[in-house]
Amino acid sequence: MIEKAINNYLKQQNQTKLSPKAVLFDMDGVLFDSMKYHARAWQETSEKHHLISTPEDFYLFEGRTGESTVNELYLRTFDRVATEEEKQTMYKEKAALFNSYNDGSVIAGAQDVVQEVIHNELQCLVVTGSGQHSLFDRLDDAFPECFNRELMVTAYDVKIGKPHPEPYLMGLDKAGVAANEAIVVENAPMGVESAVAAGIFTVAVNTGPLPDSVLLEAGAHLLYPDMQSLALDLPRLLNTIKKTNS
Ligand code: MG
Repeated sequence: MIEKAINNYLKQQNQTKLSPKAVLFDMDGVLFDSMKYHARAWQETSEKHHLISTPEDFYLFEGRTGESTVNELYLRTFDRVATEEEKQTMYKEKAALFNSYNDGSVIAGAQDVVQEVIHNELQCLVVTGSGQHSLFDRLDDAFPECFNRELMVTAYDVKIGKPHPEPYLMGLDKAGVAANEAIVVENAPMGVESAVAAGIFTVAVNTGPLPDSVLLEAGAHLLYPDMQSLALDLPRLLNTIKKTNS
C-alpha cells in the first residue's frame, strides 16, 4: 500500500526519489479540532445574509480564502460576485462567531504525529489558509517548540490560496526544500489539490464528514481515517520511504 503510493507519486510527478526533510502540516482539521466551529460559524453567517449553503459546503470549501468563499456563496445565490463591503462584513461576522465557539482543542493523535516527525529529524511547518491569531497563538502551547512562527504560511502570506499550489510552494520555499523533499498532511480536498499541484507527496487524514472518495479524487497519495492512525503507521511510512530510496 505505502510502496504503491510512493511509486504512484514518483511516476505522477516525474521524480526519481522521495527523500523527505520537512513535513508541511495544514492546521484546521489536522492539528486543531476546529473545522466543526468554522463550518458552524460560516453556516450561521450565510443564513443571516440569506445565502444558499449547507454545513457540508464549508468542508468542501475548506482551505480557500474567506473572500473566495463569500464570492462563491453570492455567485450561487445572486448570480454575482460579492462587493468588497459584503466580503469584509461577512468575514468579520464569521470570524467573531468562530472565535466565540472555538475551544482550541487539539486533534487526537496530532501531537504524536508531530513528535514522531521531530524524532525523525524532519522540519515541521504549518501551511494554512487561516488568519485566526487565536489558533496561531495556541500552536506554541499545544505543540511546544515544534513550529517556528517565522516559517508559517498563513492567510496573511498568500494571495490566491488553496486549491492553487501557491501556499504549498511558499511552504517549500520557507523550509528550503524541493517538492520531493517534503510530505504534506491535509484533511481538506482543496488542500490536497494544492499540495499535489505543488508536486508534494500528500497524506490525507479524513477527520471530517466528507466521504474518503473526495480526498482520493483530489489526488491524495495515502489516506488515513484520522491522525491517531497516521501516528501509529508513521514509523512504517518513513521507513518504507527510506528503503525505497536505498
Ligand atoms: Mg484543514
